Formats: sequence, structure tokens, C-alpha cells
Amino acid sequence: MAENQDPHKNGKQHAHNGAGSSRRSLSDKQFRKIEEVLDTLILQAPAIICSFLVVDGEWDIKYVSDNIETVTGLKPQDFTGKFKAWASHVHPDDRDRLLADMRRHTKNSGIQTLEYRLKNSKGKYQWIHDQQRVVEDKDGRIEIVSAWWDFTNRRKVVEALQQSELRFQKLLSLVPDMISIQDTQMNIVYSNWSGIGEIPEEKRVLGTKCYKTYRGYDDICRDCHAISVLDTREVHQEERELPDGRWIRLRVAPILDDKNTVEYFVEWIRDITESKQAEKKLEHLATTDDLTGLWNRRHFMNSATGEFERARRYGQYFSLLMIDIDYFKKLNDTHGHAAGDAVLRHLAGMLKGSMRRTDITGRVGGEEFSIILPNTGIENAELLAERLRLTVEKSPASYSEKTLFLTVSIGLTAYSPGFESIDEMLLLADNALYEAKEGGRNRVVIKSVRRNP
Ligand code: GH3
Ligand code: MG
Ligand code: MG
Repeated sequence: MAENQDPHKNGKQHAHNGAGSSRRSLSDKQFRKIEEVLDTLILQAPAIICSFLVVDGEWDIKYVSDNIETVTGLKPQDFTGKFKAWASHVHPDDRDRLLADMRRHTKNSGIQTLEYRLKNSKGKYQWIHDQQRVVEDKDGRIEIVSAWWDFTNRRKVVEALQQSELRFQKLLSLVPDMISIQDTQMNIVYSNWSGIGEIPEEKRVLGTKCYKTYRGYDDICRDCHAISVLDTREVHQEERELPDGRWIRLRVAPILDDKNTVEYFVEWIRDITESKQAEKKLEHLATTDDLTGLWNRRHFMNSATGEFERARRYGQYFSLLMIDIDYFKKLNDTHGHAAGDAVLRHLAGMLKGSMRRTDITGRVGGEEFSIILPNTGIENAELLAERLRLTVEKSPASYSEKTLFLTVSIGLTAYSPGFESIDEMLLLADNALYEAKEGGRNRVVIKSVRRNP
């Protein structure tokens, strides 16, 4: 190693400037010993040491440690005194940036970290991680001492991680759901910024509070589920209707660290408006009669069973009406099936119009209807049934410029604890209806059971 190429020697001189002449107090033998030790250390160190010097604005390489050969296959003499040769080994895409950084760095102190690719003896590029420090040599010249090592493999790992992170982010950005991860202080650490409500570009800032960014609140949302999730560490899930009529499914789940403490929580919001609408449509189809819009037989029976159970359990009462159109077959035969349908719709409209919202009205057969009147005793139910019978009698349907008169017969019963099941009540109401028909039609017949002793 040529003496004038050794930055460490210069470094030592520089370091001892002003601290007396300790350099002179060492014997040449001692000094050579220290030099040997330093050389050995540098050779064994994982970092390659280089020294760049700026002379009259021009760069020069003063020193390159021998271990460059083990790492790159290149020799110190390939670069010593040959700055241009070194620069030509730097990858063209990194060169300008690197030289600009180094130039800038000569005006600063402290350590600067640089990363670039350097062509090795086989013509392959290796990624270099370089830590450079500016010192002044004894003549006041600017010197950059650089310690660098190959980190191609680590760089590959980092790049693979970055790639996988990018792929992950890209994937999540394609998801229409909103996915947001917050720390326990409600700071957003990740968000795909999609989902319910556009989040303006300027608000998409990681590290901001979720309640502020997503809802514009100054404090934690009142309906925040994260608090309980952080506490119980259990996933929260709910479906919720928004004020604008849309539906969302919200999931809040904790993310635990290896010590099982909650580190983050993820909020996952899906717009389920469409599936809710489809669900409602299906439910409507499954429970409603097409022709009249009243409850269909199945739904009516379910509701009636529910009402019966409620009455039995809570000691409540209700009444049950069975309504059948008189001589309907004749009406169909005389005026046609379509006219019959119009009469069915007309009667359904009247039933809807005269019932309370809590009453349950169903079309339980072709021209048979049934009504449950909750919290209504037999006397009131009879008044109502009689009023209904009269209204129907006085309100003919019109179809194709024809006026179609109709009447109904009604069988009526009321709940009492004597009944074992809703079927028993329906049977009794049917019997009452049969009697009304037998009695001449267009009438109301009541049948009830006596309360058990
Ligand atoms: P009653 O006074 O004894 O009740 O005589 P009715 O003619 O009404 O007796 P029945 O129950 O035998 O006749 C019911 C008729 O209702 C038979 C059927 O053709 C008709 N019907 C059933 N469903 C529909 C429907 O959806 N539309 C039409 N237009 N007619 C229907
Ligand atoms: Mg009938
Ligand atoms: Mg009939």
C-alpha cells in the first residue's frame, strides 16, 4: 500500500491535529505495527474501504482496500488513482445520481448512505450499500471515506418484498370493499381508500385519525366498534342501513402480535345494497300473493301461528276472520276469469283499506281471505266483520265498463286459552263460515270456545 494512498494514516494525522504530537511520540516500529493491525482489520472487515479525494474540483481515488477482490473480483489497482475507471463501473442508470449525491455531500458533514450498482470483474452488476463520510485531510483537502459492501441478496429480498407489497396494494385497490387498518390509537396505517363514499385525494393520508379522515369527526365515533374489538379481541360483524338507504356489511377484526396483544384492527366494509334488494325481492315474492298483494297462505299461516303463540304465552287475545266470496264460480262463469281476478283485487283493496296496520290479512285460497285482528275481542271483531260485509255489499267492482256486485260470507272466532293450536281456531272459523253459507250467505257467523275451567 503506497503511503500517500492510505486514508487511515491521513485520518489518524488529521484526528490528532491539535492534540499534541502523539504521532511523533510513536516509534517507526510501533507505527508500522499499528499500520499492520489496521490493514489486517480492514482486510477482514466485511466492508470495503475507499477514499475519494477532491483536488481542484476533480475527483481522485486515493485508496481502495484489498478485500475488494473477494467481493467483486476487481483489484485495488483497477481503481486507485483512476476515478473515471471507477465511475465507468457504476451502472449508467445510477451514475449521475451517485456523482451528484457525492458532490453535494462534500459540503456536508455526517454519514451519507448511498446505493448503486457496480460492475464486477465478470461484467455483472452488484448492488452496493455505501456509507460515506467527509473528512478534511491535513492539507485541508476534502476527502470522502467510503465503507461499502455488497447487498445484492438483501436488495433482492427487499425488492421481492416491495413487489409483493405492491401486488398486495394493487389487488386491494381493485377490491370494491373498503379495507382500512388502524393502530390502537385509531391512526390509519393502511387503506385501499375505496368503498362507501369517495375519499378525496387530499384526505388520503396515512397516519391520520380514521374518524377524522373517514367521517370528519374530531373525536372517536360514537358507534365505534373498534373499542370493544380491542377489548374483547373478537371479530365484530353487522349489517347496517345507511341514512341514504344503502346497506353495508361491516367487519372489524383485531390483528394480534406474537404476544397476543392487539396491534392493529382492520375495518372491512362491503356495500351489500344490491344483495339486500335482491333478498327483499325474494322475500316479497315468497311471502306475497301476486294477484292481490296481500300475504300469501304460507306467510299468513306463519304469522297466525306466531300470533297464537304470543297470545298463549302473554295472555293476550286476538280474533280471526275467514272470508269467502259468495257465488264466485258463477261470477267467473258469467263474466270471465279476468273479471273474477278484478273482483279479487277489488276485494283485497277493500280489506286493506278497512284494516289497521297491525292486522294480518292474507289470501289463503282462490277466493278465500283470512284476517287476524291482534288485541281485538270478539265483540269488536263482530262489529268490524259486519261493517266489512256491508261495505263489500255496497261497493261493487267495475270491470270493462261492467258493474260487478259481490257479497261475502264471514266466519269469526276469537282466541281463548281453550284452543290447543291455531289449526283448531282455523277449523272453528271455517265451520262458522260454512254455517254462514248454509244460512243464506252474505252474513257473519261467530263461533267461540268456552274458556277452560
Ligand atoms: P260459495 O258461495 O259457496 O263460496 O260458492 P263459490 O262459487 O264461490 O264456490 P267455490 O269455492 O266452489 O268456487 C270458487 C271459485 O273461485 C272456483 C274457482 O274457479 C274460482 N277461483 C279460484 N281462484 C281464482 C282466481 O285466482 N281467479 C279467478 N278469477 N277465479 C278463481
Ligand atoms: Mg271458496
Ligand atoms: Mg265462494
